[in-house]
Amino acid sequence: MQHTNGHSEFAERRARLEPTLAEARANAFLTTARPNVHYLSGFTGSNGAVLILPGRVILFTDPRYATQAPQQSDCEVVVAKGPLLAEVGKWARRLKLRSLAFEQNRISFEEFTQLRSVLKNVRLKPVNGCVEALRMRKSASEIGTIKASVRLNSIALEQALEQFQPDMTEVDLAAEIEYRMRLLGADGTAFETIVASGERTALPHAHPTNHPIQRNQLLLVDMGASVAGYASDMTRTHALGKLNAKTRRMYKAVLESQLAAIEAVKPGASCTAVDRAARTVLREYGLEKYFIHSTGHGLGLEIHEGPRVGRKEKTKLEPGMVITIEPGVYQEGLGGIRIEDTVLVSERGHEVLTPTGKELVVL
Ligand code: ZN
Ligand code: ZN
Repeated sequence: MQHTNGHSEFAERRARLEPTLAEARANAFLTTARPNVHYLSGFTGSNGAVLILPGRVILFTDPRYATQAPQQSDCEVVVAKGPLLAEVGKWARRLKLRSLAFEQNRISFEEFTQLRSVLKNVRLKPVNGCVEALRMRKSASEIGTIKASVRLNSIALEQALEQFQPDMTEVDLAAEIEYRMRLLGADGTAFETIVASGERTALPHAHPTNHPIQRNQLLLVDMGASVAGYASDMTRTHALGKLNAKTRRMYKAVLESQLAAIEAVKPGASCTAVDRAARTVLREYGLEKYFIHSTGHGLGLEIHEGPRVGRKEKTKLEPGMVITIEPGVYQEGLGGIRIEDTVLVSERGHEVLTPTGKELVVL
């Protein structure tokens, strides 16, 4: 994948990290987390480390990426022969580093131990989620990429449903969806596609099975594409043939709940308030106790990012944040319904990015 947003955007992102480093009293910062390496350097390979120092930034990778790394990144590239952290240690000594901030939420205990052994005279300063905090507000180019991912995802569902036949299994439909994503230009799925039918829709994270999708039942599809590294995420629940009155009422409740939560999305609104809007509608239907997860989550280089749109998340929405709104109701023995869109927080309110309709579709 080639980046389209120019090198200056990456430099800008690194500059936005400076206050965090000052606060941590560290004169350098290290990340080895793939999405953060991508975000700060443009490099998309599977093995990378970014070391940010005053006036200098070094991207460490291994010989497999010797060609790719300098093409994708504006950073000085160091190709390490051995483990990246050993090379980072060598450079730290050479550059006489005194202190280094590392991501405590991203590093394994083994990596930490390694880091401590290669950086004996360097004070290690744990920081938590500082790149993730920057990543919550998307730039114009990131929003453009997420929009492309969301559009592709919706087209893939439409095309896959055109191929739908009554004797299909959940696995067949999941495979059809993922095949369509690939043909449309996705670099893959953002997460494992969920296709569940009948009573299995009551499992919020059902794994597709070889069950044939049966008549007069619910069909739940939760899918996301990855386009140029950026995720999309959508859930639709369809009916195969006739649904009973209780299930139709459940659908109506979830749709009203989802629309109410979307209506609450605007700059300055807290995530708690958005979550509450979804729950209030379900309470009126007597279904609140069946809504067992949070209303949504941020997405971008990862499928789940901040902010979490949940009961206890105090974060206030800001323009440029991209979140999902996905209330659901799950009743064992009856089934589950979830409706999920990807929503951009705009300057004045919100923009629903997902173009797929939400009225109950009967297949
Ligand atoms: Zn989803
Ligand atoms: Zn989601």
